[in-house]
Amino acid sequence: MPATIPLKLEQIFALAYQALCEHGCDHDNADALADTIMRAERDGSVSHGLFRLPAYIKALKSGKANPTAKPKITQATAALIKCHGDNGFAPIAQRTAIPHLITAAKTQGIAMLAITHTHHMAALWPEVEALAEQNLAAFACVSYMPAVAPAGATKAFFGTNPISFAWPRKNNFPMVFDMATASQAMGEVQLAAREGHSVPEGTGLDANGKPTTDPEKIANGGVLLPFGGYKGAAIAMMVELLAGGLINESFSYEAKQRDNGDGGPPQGGQFILALNPQRTAGEGWEKHCEDFFTKLLELEGTRLPGERRHKNRQDTGARHINKALIDTIASEMKDADKILKK
Ligand code: NDP
Repeated sequence: MPATIPLKLEQIFALAYQALCEHGCDHDNADALADTIMRAERDGSVSHGLFRLPAYIKALKSGKANPTAKPKITQATAALIKCHGDNGFAPIAQRTAIPHLITAAKTQGIAMLAITHTHHMAALWPEVEALAEQNLAAFACVSYMPAVAPAGATKAFFGTNPISFAWPRKNNFPMVFDMATASQAMGEVQLAAREGHSVPEGTGLDANGKPTTDPEKIANGGVLLPFGGYKGAAIAMMVELLAGGLINESFSYEAKQRDNGDGGPPQGGQFILALNPQRTAGEGWEKHCEDFFTKLLELEGTRLPGERRHKNRQDTGARHINKALIDTIASEMKDADKILKK
């Protein structure tokens, strides 16, 4: 097992916040992103927590991401909100725009948020969970840079293009699923490579287009496959069209063409849809849906997506962070020890 260091959630937040500030972020930008990172570690979304901080720092060092972004909201119609992210990281744009989306969906029954000019490299559950906590159903997706071969191909064209969906529940945490449309998120493959595990068959191809279970060969020169063959590929294509074509943002291949290759998240967009069951279904929808969840969970072996994260969230203790990762982050900071030794 690789060496780890125990860090409390406050230390995880402080480490990310301080590292981001030292690379030029103002309070609002650092606070929004450090909160996203801390919450990923808290919930056990390890591939999208501190693991991503070095890449965010790269995007700041190269000047690709704006560390003092001030996202701008335009209410295009009663149900359509646009947020220009001012080239910052996605969390500050989401923090600015989501309250507008909530208001629109509550009043209109359905509303869409088009976020453009941001850099997204996080898990997708926080944005839809925030909407479900307001009694709204929500769907979100983002594209990335080519990493996934379309059905039949051996070369990357789609991003890992995650989709997330949340459903509000009375007196319970929302049902939230959040998944890459690739067989696995690239972060998971990179983690498997770091920790020396193989990955399941069907995860990806090596540089010669041959199937492999070696994550190193997939992450370096190889390609991921979509989940579920051509069906997953169709969903990955839908994500490209919603988070690119529909909102006048980049497709994954365009994001790569524009990217400076610094290893940080490319500039792109995000599509978020919010639906108000109180308006579409009317009184009684909560009980109707609770009955559905009860029936589903009566089947042996089932659990709801999101449950694992919520169980992790109950644990307020330290998280065990890979030591090599902490060393990498600390090497980018003036005095990480002040935070690490608390
Ligand atoms: P997983 O395959 O680990 O999980 C996908 C979903 O399935 C989760 O909601 C999970 O819930 C649920 N789930 C897992 N097992 C079960 C089960 N037995 N029963 C019911 N539900 C289950 O996710 P991925 O590896 O595909 O993606 C990991 C992360 O990577 C995501 O957060 C995604 O947003 C992120 N990502 C981000 C990208 C970006 O560009 N920003 C690109 C690609 C991915 P639970 O969490 O409760 O286990």
